[in-house]
Amino acid sequence: MSDKLLAGYQRFKNGYFSENREKLRKLAQEQRPNYVLIACCDARMEPALIFDTEPGELFVIRNVANLVPPYEIEGSYHGTSAALEFAITVLEVPEIIVLGHSRCGGIRSLVLQSEAMPKDTFIARWMSIVSPVAKLADPTKLDDHATFNYCEQAAVGYSLRNLMTYPWIRSRVEAGTLNLKGWHYNIFTGALKQIHDQDTISTIVEEAQD
Ligand SMILES: [Zn+2]
Repeated sequence: MSDKLLAGYQRFKNGYFSENREKLRKLAQEQRPNYVLIACCDARMEPALIFDTEPGELFVIRNVANLVPPYEIEGSYHGTSAALEFAITVLEVPEIIVLGHSRCGGIRSLVLQSEAMPKDTFIARWMSIVSPVAKLADPTKLDDHATFNYCEQAAVGYSLRNLMTYPWIRSRVEAGTLNLKGWHYNIFTGALKQIHDQDTISTIVEEAQD
């Protein structure tokens, strides 16, 4: 199976890598990405392909359902928070984009409270970060993609709100040196929706908490 990957690597090494040798050599000295992109692990999401970017431009943090947990300091492991800390406090990346997507399995499992996903799984515990979002789904419309799109967008709103709980993010946003944005990509239509409007986010978040 991995032969396909190794053949692809050979094409990359002989093609892109050798054609861009100087650029990549320079990039090896230092990374200066312009964007932190928080994306889902979903195999159908390819940030560099979707945004037509080159190596070095995107600092991508991928996790299940592109969630940002709230800021908390205790003795557990925080992969997403650690990556954010490095990107913001060390690399000083000036923009964070939370990228949601349609047909997200993580959001789907949260909304449907899937029996295949018992509460003591890693995924169920991880998805509980945005548990109020499940209440936004109309139980009579669970066969409608629009229902899930709305919940996916609300989860992006939640993550944007959680980003502001990190002191080194809040201070930079307030000083105007860091921008936060929320987008939702439709993997079926290719449409990209912006959800950075704070009013929309607060409306969605308030609805989710009712
Ligand atoms: Zn997903």
